[in-house]
Amino acid sequence: MTSDGFRLTRQRRAILDELRKVTSHPTADELYEAVRRQCPNISLGTVYRNLETMSANGIIRRIDVAGRQMRFDADIEPHYHIRCVHCGRVDDVGSSTWDRLEKLASESTEYEVLGHTIEFTGVCPACKERERSG
Ligand SMILES: [Zn+2]
Ligand SMILES: [Zn+2]
Repeated sequence: MTSDGFRLTRQRRAILDELRKVTSHPTADELYEAVRRQCPNISLGTVYRNLETMSANGIIRRIDVAGRQMRFDADIEPHYHIRCVHCGRVDDVGSSTWDRLEKLASESTEYEVLGHTIEFTGVCPACKERERSG
């Protein structure tokens, strides 16, 4: 796998294209369904492997959301996520406090700060609507 670490094969390109089209932070299964329309012969295992390789190389971002299937993001700039506690949908949250939080952490400890993780949870608009009408 190391020999072609950064190479964008046709399949990887197809996966990346699909991921860049959406802001829904899809799961591997959802990406597989979308990519199959471009590459009918691609397997779910290939999609998984390519997602792993691309996130390890920093081309895409892997989001580990609590207790759910892994999701992926084509946006590799630092930003936060909010997850709906009902349907598992994930959306972006502004990142204006990112640097300030890391500065705060490095000023209040002796650590060299490498990064941080914050996950917001909530109820998405669609689920809020369902709750109100149900
Ligand atoms: Zn929801
Ligand atoms: Zn995101």
